[in-house]
Amino acid sequence: MREKRSPAGRNANPANKHRGNSGHQHKKQFGQNFLNNQRVIDQIVMSIRPQAEDHMVEIGPGEAALTDPIIHVVKKLEIIEIDNDLIAPLKIKFASLPAFNLHHTDALKFDYNTLLDSADEQLRVVGNLPYNISSPLMFKLIEHAANIHDMHFMLQKEVVERICAEPGSKTFGRLSVMMQYFCQTEHLFDVGPENFTPPPKVDSAIVRLIPYKQKPIVAYDEALFADLVRQSFSLKRKTLRNNLKGWLDANQIESCGINPSVRAEQLPVSAFVALANKLYEIKNR
Ligand code: SAM
Repeated sequence: MREKRSPAGRNANPANKHRGNSGHQHKKQFGQNFLNNQRVIDQIVMSIRPQAEDHMVEIGPGEAALTDPIIHVVKKLEIIEIDNDLIAPLKIKFASLPAFNLHHTDALKFDYNTLLDSADEQLRVVGNLPYNISSPLMFKLIEHAANIHDMHFMLQKEVVERICAEPGSKTFGRLSVMMQYFCQTEHLFDVGPENFTPPPKVDSAIVRLIPYKQKPIVAYDEALFADLVRQSFSLKRKTLRNNLKGWLDANQIESCGINPSVRAEQLPVSAFVALANKLYEIKNR
């Protein structure tokens, strides 16, 4: 009789539930939940649509679930992996391929400018990201938005919902404003915990982020804009007037056409740009 596979697939045996198919010991501190379902892997790769001319970056290849179907297609694949134990297997598998370029380092500390072959090069970035570093990593990557064509990430579903949230919704916050200022955002599809080994405690989802080449609205000073957005959301349930005390007074907020008594989560991205630009004008008078 054929053995029936449980949803967790080849690694479902409780005896090896924290090991990958190569016997790798999964490390919690590196957020190692490896994809185990070929149908989901295919769906992700189809959404990415790797092309022969692509210069791609994969953050956290792990045991190469996404690397394998991508590296044979693209011109160059920059692979960034922190875990020492995964480096030799990746080299054994791929080092002979012309696209292979491995960086054994922390993706949060990596200098992405070193990957650029020319000043206007457009990288494509992908990754089933370790959930503990996903927000700081995305904030770091949007600093390089001018050199990024698109990004496809697996994230905690709740984070994808926050990135793509509409103003006024429960999940709209600082991450929504910042990502929507720099990128077109799209929640592609959800992925359940049974598709990973070991299964994470949360649902996951795939997001597509396409940095604007021409932003719909432009902040005069993007660092100041980022500071103002952080300050506007600093105390939940407080009004804009309260959170922006010492930054802009009620009259200055009103002069941007914004009611100072609303809360930050009710405002569209354009309102934060208007407030940041008002602050810029006041500071540079
Ligand atoms: N891509 C594989 C997959 O889909 O099965 C593995 C994804 S697993 C969620 C995250 C991967 O990111 C692991 O390989 C882990 O070692 C790596 N990682 C964790 N923190 C990292 C960091 N700071 N820099 C680079 N890689 C990191």
